[in-house]
Amino acid sequence: MSLRLNAVNNISDPSSDVKPTGFQKITAIFGENVFTLKVARELLSDEAYKSLRSSVKSGKKIDRAMANQVASGIRQWAESKGVTHFTHWFQPLTGTTAEKHDSFFTIKGDGTSLEEFDGAALIQQEPDASSFPSGGLRATFEARGYTAWDPSSPAFIMEVGLGKTLCIPTIFVSYTGESLDYKAPLLKALEALNKSAVDVCNYFDRNVTKVSATLGWEQEYFIVDAGLFNARPDLVLSGRTVFGHSSAKGQQLEDHYFGSIPERVFEFMRDYEQEAYKLGIPLRTRHNEVAPAQFECAPIFEEVSVAVDHNTLLMDIMDRVARRHNLRVLLHEKPFAGINGSGKHNNWSMSTDTGVNLLAPGKTPKTNLMFLTFFVNTIKAVYDYADLLRSAIASAGNDFRLGANEAPPAIISVFIGQYLTKVLDDIETRVNEKFDEQDEAILKLDLHRSIPELLLDNTDRNRTSPFAFTGNKFEFRAVGSSANCANAMTVLNTIVAETLKSFKKEVDGLIEKGEKKEIAIIHVIREYIVNGKKILFEGNNYSDEWAKEAEARGLQNIKTTPLALDAMVTEKALHLFESNDVYSHSELEARYEIELEKYIKKVQIEARIMGELATSTILPGAIKYQNTLIENIKGLKELGLPEASYANQRQVLEKVSEHISVVSEQIMKMIEARKTANALESSRDKAIAYCDQVKGQFFDTIRYHVDKLELLVDDKEWTLPKYREILFLR
Ligand code: ADP
Ligand code: MG
Repeated sequence: MSLRLNAVNNISDPSSDVKPTGFQKITAIFGENVFTLKVARELLSDEAYKSLRSSVKSGKKIDRAMANQVASGIRQWAESKGVTHFTHWFQPLTGTTAEKHDSFFTIKGDGTSLEEFDGAALIQQEPDASSFPSGGLRATFEARGYTAWDPSSPAFIMEVGLGKTLCIPTIFVSYTGESLDYKAPLLKALEALNKSAVDVCNYFDRNVTKVSATLGWEQEYFIVDAGLFNARPDLVLSGRTVFGHSSAKGQQLEDHYFGSIPERVFEFMRDYEQEAYKLGIPLRTRHNEVAPAQFECAPIFEEVSVAVDHNTLLMDIMDRVARRHNLRVLLHEKPFAGINGSGKHNNWSMSTDTGVNLLAPGKTPKTNLMFLTFFVNTIKAVYDYADLLRSAIASAGNDFRLGANEAPPAIISVFIGQYLTKVLDDIETRVNEKFDEQDEAILKLDLHRSIPELLLDNTDRNRTSPFAFTGNKFEFRAVGSSANCANAMTVLNTIVAETLKSFKKEVDGLIEKGEKKEIAIIHVIREYIVNGKKILFEGNNYSDEWAKEAEARGLQNIKTTPLALDAMVTEKALHLFESNDVYSHSELEARYEIELEKYIKKVQIEARIMGELATSTILPGAIKYQNTLIENIKGLKELGLPEASYANQRQVLEKVSEHISVVSEQIMKMIEARKTANALESSRDKAIAYCDQVKGQFFDTIRYHVDKLELLVDDKEWTLPKYREILFLR
């Protein structure tokens, strides 16, 4: 029996269902596997606790002198929970997480054994990390990298089966200081934002000393049966089905969206949620998505760096827990052609240490003006650096979503809703370019309007916008479902930091000339509205008209990753990241190189799996069926039956033969195109060749003919699970 039929058979076998047991109340388990400050308070001396607390708050390195005490406290806590090993946990640029486990166990000079975890082991480790991508950084400068504890993110215990491991969240850097992971630049970007935002906040409130960016991600994913998954080598190797005719029923009935969750999936959800809660991941919503077999989960928002850790952790947990339930989770942006892909909305805002959400419209003129300041600065930042935001979400997987007639398009634009559009229009037309008394009147009267009630009304929402204001936060919707949010967040926070810096310079300039503070602010806001408003769009982002209008406005529409990545290394980008102390030139160039390499490898793997599947799986089945048809026609002919009696078989035979020959011929040509691409020197040229000459030239054509064969060939001869099975059987 083929893997396919075997898998289909097994689905109806109830013994294959894994029923998790012992669900507990969320509040009873929430954060139980996290070394929180509360736990630290109980276990550490006053001195050590204070030192740890100040590191946690500032994100600065722990005092060396205290490190041993803190480490021993963490070990004591971990051991009381049955932990034997520890690891420095980090987020390398491969897109997954990395760990290298060491045990607490050690042997003293006299041969006796001892459990130990000292300060040095907590603070710094040297994983053998030479095979993580470095974009040439370590090759040029220094062969090794090390991981360093990031105290802003708490230590946690990861449970895998019966094993428990203490995980120390770390950043990963080379010995010469270049960052080799997602976290290090993110922390720098957040610091840049903190500095610029505090400065601007102080115009309004002197008490603000810290601004943190906040992130609430929404993770979309598909869930499929593990048996069916395993029978699809393309899903196993690339996370995406490279072939597969659409199912007779797809998402047209829209009966899956917010429908009831299938029991098997529900068990899986409860199980991974349970694990997430223990790790302090504040998951709150779960529901079905638009496509069949597609779901979403979202937590309560947190500070960006913690939210990023929690998202990467959760992706990991979901993958492991799914296997326990004989399911597989697909985080790829477009696992199935013809039905919706998956994204990861990044809801983002900024909040002060005085408890104010800077993107929540205020109730008084002063707080309204503060809101408008941050709101308009964000819009201006997105306008000025749209190309960089686009590059931050570019990946081989996301290319199947962005601009491929599905949400959202590759054109970056901002939706703010009718009401705020009117507010910005008013400011533009009514604030006089010359400074006069009217300005004062506008400030006093108009900004006093109560914005919040109107805004939080969900009716004024545009689901097609890649970057939408949703009442008290912006929602960056174009991030890919498999991406580490850190990349998008590093760019977003850096560009807003930079824009706020320029804003302050301009306002200060006007104040020095003798303008009143509020008047100076409203004038620079006006200038930013005038300069940045081309990025605002309220209509249907999926429409062709928008593509045309965006072009007329001079907005970019870059549909493929190799070209979108160019923005990373422009003079503008190099200057932006360097002056905000986020990336040096060499770091940025290395990252650019890594992204190109990743793209090339992904497309290369898909091309190979396409070739292999077509040659060794699809064609043999099709040829077998072709032979059956030939035998049948021959037989009928020999019996002397009229041509009409086998006309139909003949027609099918002709079609099958045609598809078989196109597929074999195109596969050969695609191999040649790959060879040509591989011979290219520069990564950029190679990536473009893979994009245009390999993927662009062949993927759709080969798929078209294979999918036609799927409809013609005897179902028994078709060994790859079909869309109807993968998407609808659970
Ligand atoms: P939807 O976008 O699906 O309508 P919600 O508006 O309820 O859903 O919120 C979506 C996400 O936005 C949630 O993960 C939530 O935590 C997050 N969110 C809400 N407020 C903020 C904020 N101030 N900063 C960052 N994320 C936020
Ligand atoms: Mg949303």
